[in-house]
Amino acid sequence: MTRFHQVTERMEVAAASARRPISELRLLAVSKKQPIERIRSLAEEGQTSFGENYVDEAVAKMDELADLALEWHFIGPIQSNKTRTLVERFDWVQSVDRIKIVRRLNDQHPGNRPALNVLLQVNLDGEAQKAGCAPEAIASLAEAVAAAEHLILRGLMAIPAPRDDPQAQADVFGRLRGYFDELAAAYPSVDTLSAGMSADLEAAIAAGSTMIRVGTDLFGPRPE
Ligand SMILES: *Cc1c(COP(=O)(O)O)cnc(C)c1O
Repeated sequence: MTRFHQVTERMEVAAASARRPISELRLLAVSKKQPIERIRSLAEEGQTSFGENYVDEAVAKMDELADLALEWHFIGPIQSNKTRTLVERFDWVQSVDRIKIVRRLNDQHPGNRPALNVLLQVNLDGEAQKAGCAPEAIASLAEAVAAAEHLILRGLMAIPAPRDDPQAQADVFGRLRGYFDELAAAYPSVDTLSAGMSADLEAAIAAGSTMIRVGTDLFGPRPE
């Protein structure tokens, strides 16, 4: 069984035990630092969505893989001098966490591309070293994205700190789900909750995640 099949099977088992249809779940292949050949072979297995953390690395890969119809998601911390490349080259930006970035992405949109799909990244644990907005800032950022002509508000993304205790893990994903439900009730375009990685995808799926982000378990260890 390939890594791809192992991951999709884990997602199927988790969906079944959460009594959710597998069609509600998408898998984002996190390809940062992975070589082109591994991305190409995963695409041949049927994977179409790829997530990248570093803008220059991502653009080089997009150019090399331009013969494939892939969807690219940016999931890394956003530097404001990179927003033009983000909006010109990516289909989704999952790590929007401040108003300045919302404005730049909208203002720099080339107009001849589809609108940019935006997730707001939420910092659930108040970790100073991590990107993401405070939960209290979700509402105002969402309003700004929803009002922006070239952006589509699709939902939330989070990377909760790992928890060994299953109940604590369920609680933090439950809290995220609460923020997501509030947002979805206010904005009809909101349909995506990006949460859950290799170690915690079962808990995330149980809590209602719709997009699982997996790197190492799909590609193998990142070469140094
Ligand atoms: C790197 C990364 C992942 C995947 O991590 P792996 O440990 O390789 O599975 C998922 N989400 C984000 C935001 C990441 O930066």
